Amino acid sequence: MTEPVVGFIGLGKMGQPMALNLMQKGYTVLGYDVVPAAREAFRTKGGEARGSMVEVIGSSDVLFTSLPSPKEVREVYGTGEASDGASAGVSVATHGKAGLIAIDTSTVSPEVNQEVAEALSKRDIGYLGAPVSGGVERAVDATLTVMVGGEKTTYARALPFLQAIGENIFHIGEHPGMGSVVKLTNNYFIGYYTLAVAEALTLAGSVGMDLSQLFEILKVSYGQSRIYERNFKLFIEKDQYEPGFTTKLLLKDLNLARDMAREKGTTLPMMDTLLAMYEKAVQKGYGDLDMAAMYRFVQDQQKND
Ligand code: NAD
Repeated sequence: MTEPVVGFIGLGKMGQPMALNLMQKGYTVLGYDVVPAAREAFRTKGGEARGSMVEVIGSSDVLFTSLPSPKEVREVYGTGEASDGASAGVSVATHGKAGLIAIDTSTVSPEVNQEVAEALSKRDIGYLGAPVSGGVERAVDATLTVMVGGEKTTYARALPFLQAIGENIFHIGEHPGMGSVVKLTNNYFIGYYTLAVAEALTLAGSVGMDLSQLFEILKVSYGQSRIYERNFKLFIEKDQYEPGFTTKLLLKDLNLARDMAREKGTTLPMMDTLLAMYEKAVQKGYGDLDMAAMYRFVQDQQKND
């Protein structure tokens, strides 16, 4: 049997390390990103980047995507408008081989997963909505948590490939959006925790507490959380906010969580307040920084408002 060819579309902060880990496992990986610099960065690390999406889609037996938001996912899968001139008219739905398995690791809504799964099933293409958690660090280490929705048989075929990028892999249900339900719940927590870290550390700092000493005490107290550890140790303590996970991507996920709540008529009393804070931070220029910069945003509020 010939070895499967793995395609990878979206070679960004998460996609590039995932693609490299698939290569590390011995798979032939063809990568594509709409941004030439991302393709070049992949080549520099030994990856085989192709100059057009059609070359990657048409050659793949298994195709991963890691794209920013529903808009780009719809574009690449062929359920929405194509805005990238070079790829116009090319999509997974139109150019994927019959029998292809497509695995979308992007964070989108359950509805987008469902819409894509339906479009692909008409072409005999299997699809898994498989968002990931763990950030760039765990993407690099191949220890991501992967939350998968989709048909069991497709999942079973995809499992060896998922094991190349992640450590904890969960098949949640046959609806392709089940992974997104879990992922958006996860990121709703992250929205709270990130803002809680920003405000609590601003409070402690304002009364003269040393934040590194505070961390040592709270890491063995109930104030501890993974997000506190991540945001403080990797960003706030170093006073550097190179992403990581950008504030604008977190805002996108919080909006998707709000849509999910609205869909079911679920009232969440704090949700709009939380979203308003992130919207304001993005408007004030924090969108492209790591979400840990919500700490800087809260600090700046002391002077501005
Ligand atoms: P990113 O912006 O670094 O990467 C996305 C890549 O997709 C970019 O390189 C971009 O050029 C490319 N792209 C956009 N449109 C494209 C198109 N039409 N065709 C081909 N390539 C295209 O974002 P990221 O941080 O890597 O996140 C990717 C996805 O993973 C998002 O959905 C995000 O919410 C999710 N996610 C991110 C993290 C994180 O910590 N960064 C963690 C878990 C999940």
